[in-house]
Amino acid sequence: MPAERTILHVDMDAFFASVEQRDNPALRGKPVVVGGSPDKRGVVAAASYEARKFGIRSAMPTREAHRRCPDAVFVKGRMSVYSAVSKKVFAIFEDITPMVQPVSVDEAFLDVTGALHLWQNDPVRIAEHIRERIRNELHLTASVGIAPNKFLAKLASDINKPDGLSLVPRPQPDIEAFLAPLAVGRIWGVGKKTEARLTEHNIRTIGDLQRAPPAQLTRWFGDLSARHLHALARGLDDRPVHERDPEKSISSEHTFDQDQTDPAVWRACLLEQSEDVGRRLRKAGFWTQCVHIKIRNDRFETITRQQKLPLPTRRDLDIHHTAMALLEQNAPARPVRLLGVGASHLTDTPSIAGPQQLDLFSEPAPVQPDPAKLDDILDALRAKYGKNALKRGG
Ligand SMILES: [Mg+2]
Repeated sequence: MPAERTILHVDMDAFFASVEQRDNPALRGKPVVVGGSPDKRGVVAAASYEARKFGIRSAMPTREAHRRCPDAVFVKGRMSVYSAVSKKVFAIFEDITPMVQPVSVDEAFLDVTGALHLWQNDPVRIAEHIRERIRNELHLTASVGIAPNKFLAKLASDINKPDGLSLVPRPQPDIEAFLAPLAVGRIWGVGKKTEARLTEHNIRTIGDLQRAPPAQLTRWFGDLSARHLHALARGLDDRPVHERDPEKSISSEHTFDQDQTDPAVWRACLLEQSEDVGRRLRKAGFWTQCVHIKIRNDRFETITRQQKLPLPTRRDLDIHHTAMALLEQNAPARPVRLLGVGASHLTDTPSIAGPQQLDLFSEPAPVQPDPAKLDDILDALRAKYGKNALKRGG
C-alpha cells in the first residue's frame, strides 16, 4: 500500500459572479448572470447563488436564463479581471505547497501530505488558513474538501458549498459509510447515461454499488468500467496530483523514405502510430478527448485535422479508428511524405460507460478479448521484449 496522502480540493464559490458582486455593491444579494445579454445568442458563463435558485446553471443559453428569472442582472464577463484574481488565488495555494494541480481558473487540487507537519498534522488548519486568506485578501469565498485522494476531495468540496469545509472521515470503513448514502451520479465520471443504466439495475446510491457483485457489474459495463466503478464506490483513487499542467498532447509522426501512394501503407503507419500514442497515454495515466492527424504531401503541403471524441479514451483501436476516419475524409490526392497521429485535450479522469457507448466508430462492441486488456498485454510484452515484439494485423 502506498503511504496515506492528504489532498485538498479548493473551489471558489460562483467565481465570476462573486467577483462581479464584490466589485459592484449594487449587485450584491441579487441574481447575477455572467455571460452577455438575454436578447442575444450566448450561454451563461457563471450564475450567482441567488440566480441558481431559479435553476440557472453554467452553459445554459442566456435566453433560457432570462426566461427563468426575468429580474436577473446580466453582466458581460471581464476575463482579464478574473484571470488576475485567479493568479492571486493560486499564489495562496503555492504558499502552502508546490504540489498544486489546476483544474480550472478557480479550482485546484493540493497535495499537502508533505506540508502537514508544519500544521500540527491537522489538514483542517491548512484549509481554514487558505479560506481565511481568500476572504481577507480577495474578499471572496472558497469551499474546500479534505480527503485521502482526488476523487473524494472533489466530492467533499461540493458538499457544504458555498463557503464550506468538509473532511472525509478515515479509515476505509468510515470512507465507505460516508459514501454509501450518496447518489451514484456523485461519482466522478458517471454521467447521465451511466446513471440511468445503473438505475435500471436498481443501483441508486453508492452503497447499492458497493454491494453489487463485481461479476454482475462486469457483465453490465465491461471489465474496465466495472473495475473503475467498484474502486470509486469504495472511495479508492490513486491518481497523483500533477504539480505542473499535465502534458498538453502526445503525438507520433513518421517521414517515409519514399513518398507513399498506397492506402494500405498509410493505414499500417497510422495503426503503428496510434498504438504508440495509446501506449504513452496509458503510461502517463491519461485519456484523450481529441485525436488529430497530420498529412504532408510531396509538395510539402501540410494539413492537420482533428476530431473530438464523445468519451475520453486510451485504447489503441479507438485512436486508430478516429485517425482512419480523418484520413478517409481528407483522402490525400498526392503522394504522402509524412503521416502523424496525435492526442490532445488530455484528462486523467476516465469516463465510465457501458460497452455500447464505447462503440463509437461502427466497430463491433468489445468482445473477447477486451481491447483495453489487450492494450495492457501488448504494453507488458513490449516493455519486456522491445517495441517491435508484437504487431497487430492490418
Ligand atoms: Mg467554482
